[in-house]
Amino acid sequence: MTAFAFCPRDGTPLVLTPIDGRDRPACTVCGFADFMHVQIGANCIVERNGAVLLVRLNYGPRDGRWALPGGLVESDETSEHAAIRETREETGFTVALDGLMSMWMRPGFPILVVNYRAHITGGDLQVASGEASEAAFFPKDRLPPLEELAWPSTAHGLDAWRAYEPHGP
Ligand SMILES: [Zn+2]
Repeated sequence: MTAFAFCPRDGTPLVLTPIDGRDRPACTVCGFADFMHVQIGANCIVERNGAVLLVRLNYGPRDGRWALPGGLVESDETSEHAAIRETREETGFTVALDGLMSMWMRPGFPILVVNYRAHITGGDLQVASGEASEAAFFPKDRLPPLEELAWPSTAHGLDAWRAYEPHGP
């Protein structure tokens, strides 16, 4: 990972400054400090009649594996918006979020994935042919085996969903 040489806000040359136990490139004008830059993924755990919605990818190294509907957050949207948008694009369902279910992170080339609980508010199941070959609802005791899941974050989200017990009124 290459560090910033200039402040991305105002172009000031950055100077190494001890912050939180490490020397980091920092801006003397606006206070910007070069911490980790992370990609954020946002997925929906869409439950219907006790089953969760998964899509089967049909591209890339995860071809044929099951993933939660979702994707990477664009720089001009929130993670909530991205989760809703990607779910609509991939499955045809309009959803509303019910809360955060789990969060998974990988350091190194860093990515942080948030999995939201969601329910369907409209639309019909229509898979985006460029991204998935099918979509289906899986009950808790009939989820695909671990080796058929697309990402570690998929397994993390499904583990959280299996363990989740909604509070009564
Ligand atoms: Zn600055």
